[in-house]
Amino acid sequence: MITMKFGGTSVGTPESVRAVCRLVKGELDRRPVVIVSAHNSPQVRMTDTLIAAAKAAKEGRPDAGKVIEAQLWMCEGLGVDPVATGIRRYLDRFSQLLSGIAMIGELTPRTMDVVMSFGERMSARVVNDVLRREFGVDSEYRSSITLGLRTDHNFGSARPDPRCYPAVAKQIADIGSQVLVTTGFIASTDDGQTTTLGRGGSDFSATIFGAIVGAEEVQIWTDVSGVMTADPRIVPAAASIPELTFTEASELAWYGAKVLHPATMTPAIEHDIPVRVKNTALPDHPGTVIVKRATEKATSAVKSLAVMKDIHMVTISTERMFGTHGFMSKIFDIFNRHHVDIHMIATSEVTISVTTPNKENAEAAAEDLRAFANVVVEDGLSLISVVGEGMKGTPGTAARVTKAMGACQANIRMISQGASEINIALVVKTGEAKQAIAALHAEFFESGAEPEKESA
Ligand code: ASP
Ligand code: MG
Repeated sequence: MITMKFGGTSVGTPESVRAVCRLVKGELDRRPVVIVSAHNSPQVRMTDTLIAAAKAAKEGRPDAGKVIEAQLWMCEGLGVDPVATGIRRYLDRFSQLLSGIAMIGELTPRTMDVVMSFGERMSARVVNDVLRREFGVDSEYRSSITLGLRTDHNFGSARPDPRCYPAVAKQIADIGSQVLVTTGFIASTDDGQTTTLGRGGSDFSATIFGAIVGAEEVQIWTDVSGVMTADPRIVPAAASIPELTFTEASELAWYGAKVLHPATMTPAIEHDIPVRVKNTALPDHPGTVIVKRATEKATSAVKSLAVMKDIHMVTISTERMFGTHGFMSKIFDIFNRHHVDIHMIATSEVTISVTTPNKENAEAAAEDLRAFANVVVEDGLSLISVVGEGMKGTPGTAARVTKAMGACQANIRMISQGASEINIALVVKTGEAKQAIAALHAEFFESGAEPEKESA
């Protein structure tokens, strides 16, 4: 079996939904489980529209008009009957939900997950209907909630509970049809409350379902031809990377490469399932395959660059640290208490700098730390990651990084390389991040051998 996940832009218009159905039909002999995101295109930005409607309802303006209009536009373009497919019922329920939010004047993370869940449930029903009616595929729709996918109670960013996997696998095995179409992004707690896996979470659903059914491959279909050497909006010369390892891909995902939800690689690593990232609009392009161990010798020590904006740097300094032990644990206790998610650390004998995306938590921790140290919290920074397993045993990578930064006059505020030698992380001012990425890309990819260019 395989899982095929289609991102929002892959099901954003009637034409793209048909293209998706064609791709699914081409894989029938591999018994695909199809995982669908909510529609996402200029005409139907479903998840964002649902969120905006819920926020307006909380302010006393319950109006499902935009959601209904967008979803019905999609249905009309595909000849999908909203009543027969149950979509009309979802839209009615969504309207009622908005009235409820308006009445109470409250929008909790738990309610927000119910709000967002409508997008995936409607688009999966659309894809299932088109597969059956227009493409003659024997497919069946079940939401991931009905299939029994369970998570913790962390609304807005829930994590799956693997104990439910055998029961979900049994449910799937009992479905007699050729194809199962299910919802990405959503699940529920064991007491039946709807949860979501975080924005962009249907990538994660793809590998979760891959693990559940023991897939031979997970396919993630998106709007770019795989994972790129850098964000093509920043670096026009960015090219698609033919092959990445699990470690490289998860490093990139956690450090800001938008193409994969950060947790996506976890189930793939645990179950050793190759993940293929492909472009729905250019299905013949090989895209990127992500595997446990590299099969090809990499052409470059560095595979890709990722950037995270809006990073905060906390610098702690004190002379008292000199020669004492237990100091680090005291500091990290405080970070832990304030739920500060730390990305990067650099230390000297008298200072420690850490970076984190959580500003409020960092400020709160800083308050406590000031009891015994000088603390500065800085904003307006970006974290750039230079990732590639080939750095291991290739001397001079760090030198090339600093050379590129010197050439573009970007000031390195902080730099670190883990002992695993797969990532060099650096912090620069956000205003200098673009030039830094461009310079690093030129240094590592635009001289000599480079990976295959994306065919327009
Ligand atoms: N529809 C959700 C979002 O927009 C999940 C996803 O697309 O992966 O974040
Ligand atoms: Mg996505």
